Amino acid sequence: MAWLQKILIPFLGLVLAFWFYSARENFKPEMLKGKRVIVTGASTGIGEQMAYHLARMGAHILITARTEAKLQKVVERCRELGAASARYISGTMEDMAFAERVVKEAGTLLGGLDMLILNHVGTSYFGYFNGDIEHVRKLLEINFLSYVAMTTTALPMLKESEGSIVVVSSMAGKVGFPFTAPYSATKFALDGFFSSLRQEFTIQNINVSITLCILGFIDTDTAVRAASELLWVSPAPRAQCALEILRGAALRRRELHYRYGPTRLPLLLRDCAPELLDRMVRSRYRLDRLQPAPTPSTPH
Ligand code: NAP
Repeated sequence: MAWLQKILIPFLGLVLAFWFYSARENFKPEMLKGKRVIVTGASTGIGEQMAYHLARMGAHILITARTEAKLQKVVERCRELGAASARYISGTMEDMAFAERVVKEAGTLLGGLDMLILNHVGTSYFGYFNGDIEHVRKLLEINFLSYVAMTTTALPMLKESEGSIVVVSSMAGKVGFPFTAPYSATKFALDGFFSSLRQEFTIQNINVSITLCILGFIDTDTAVRAASELLWVSPAPRAQCALEILRGAALRRRELHYRYGPTRLPLLLRDCAPELLDRMVRSRYRLDRLQPAPTPSTPH
């Protein structure tokens, strides 16, 4: 029995992983030509790169984030790159009414919706959990609740177009990583909600795909600023990451992993050797460079 757990199951996982990986070649950029797509968190980072790829593929793009000046520049570039149309709406995803408004305006401006890419992420800290519950609540609203609100509003349009929902998550939403407890909680919540929703779609024959994106360390300015000094691993390129997300979404994958090996293979260990995986995760950090844990404050 032990050999089954230790050898056969990981081996079968590797075979399955290889099969998944080698099915990548079916993607064609024309698949996204003329599609009506919302990309959230597209003023910078991976979202910005997704907008540029979609523009080159000839999609209709509506992007959103808080910083209007950056969104304006991204939209201009999307037009230069060949987008069928490019627009932005600025505002904060702390406000659920704004989240819903973005989707409604997309429906009015684009005459429907084919793909909802949920990518934005609120600012958090990298370090020991500091006991700030208000921060956890706010981050849940931005990183999780607004995703649910946008999905709920978009669903009638996505059902009609037999479209796709793309949820950008993280390895920190699959495995307990240290120093990102509030962030990690929001990403685990996404997996729970959207995996459950996918099951319900299947039961009800609703042809809307849900792609959960499990990303490792990517070289966006925010991530590099927050973590590069503290991690032994080097980040993967954001433009390629963005393309992999779109490829997975177009192929209607249930999950995609980028980079594949470093994000997929550790998950095979999760159930059969969790302590080993935890140790491997901890070994990625330069613990000597972290600020010491804060003294817990008295709750009131
Ligand atoms: P990023 O460069 O920091 O971009 C975050 C985007 O979200 C920006 O456009 C930002 O624009 C927007 N945003 C932040 N707070 C917002 C708010 N309150 N309301 C609306 N928009 C807001 O992030 P990234 O590194 O590209 O990450 C993109 C996604 O990949 C996230 O879901 C992240 O969790 C995931 N991911 C990233 C990494 C990585 O290493 N980079 C690893 C795993 C997973 P404004 O500031 O203008 O609002």
